[in-house]
Amino acid sequence: MFDLSGRVALVTGASRGIGRATAVALASQGAWVAVNYATNAAAAEETLAAMRAAGGDGELLPFDVSDAAAVTAAVEGLVQRKGPMAIAVANAGVNVDALLLRAQEEDFDRMLATNVKGTLFLAKASVRSMMKARFGRIIAVSSVVGAMGNAGQTMYAASKSALVGMARSIAREYGSRGVTCNVVSPGYVETDMTAGMTDEVRKKLIEMTPAGRIGRPEDVAAAVVYLASAEAAWVTGQVLGVNGGLRM
Ligand code: NAP
Repeated sequence: MFDLSGRVALVTGASRGIGRATAVALASQGAWVAVNYATNAAAAEETLAAMRAAGGDGELLPFDVSDAAAVTAAVEGLVQRKGPMAIAVANAGVNVDALLLRAQEEDFDRMLATNVKGTLFLAKASVRSMMKARFGRIIAVSSVVGAMGNAGQTMYAASKSALVGMARSIAREYGSRGVTCNVVSPGYVETDMTAGMTDEVRKKLIEMTPAGRIGRPEDVAAAVVYLASAEAAWVTGQVLGVNGGLRM
């Protein structure tokens, strides 16, 4: 598809779901991929094995994306060991559904810390080496819910729409240095995060989706590979919807 040989990449939340598929897709195109996760080491090992089976390589790099010092230390260590960071994918995310009247501040704090601050910390830690190398691809994983809203997801939607303003500001700051920053905005994708969806909701979603199916992690991963490529140099500050047409 696109040649990412020689590029160092880091994917947060790569132990499962969309992050795993993204790490495997980047590795299969030649990138060397650091596989971040929070706690699930066994799942992260499976990601690394899948990357190797796809002809790529990388390493496990556990840290909590909401811990600024941990993110900085991990990225600085990676750059020292492997060279400039070329591709930073801020994918790690958490979701707690609640109607507005039942919203709990601690849940909101957790979503903001992981989804929003985690993206900022990764971008901040990565951008210096990207600027020096005059090549960088920062990609944030938002959600269709951030743009459409969804009853029961007020807090999650707020955390996901925040990424759009963040990415566009980063795109403006570093565009002249060869660094792009874009957002991938998936629709509903088959992962642990959506495993609790009822059959009724699933059926309704499929009816509303022109492509006639729920997404697969690989659908999103392919969009990330494109945005990570040299060929996407003139694409920055954009939101790429990957949702089967659910939102146009
Ligand atoms: P998932 O299957 O629940 O996996 C979440 C991943 O994030 C895991 O690898 C988890 O690591 C990691 N993670 C969570 N908190 C972390 C932290 N503080 N530090 C580091 N890693 C952390 O999620 P998913 O469905 O693949 O979603 C991935 C991204 O896509 C999220 O940002 C989500 O909001 C977004 N998204 C998902 C959908 C969907 O339908 N699934 C739709 C739109 C957007 P552990 O394994 O160690 O827990």
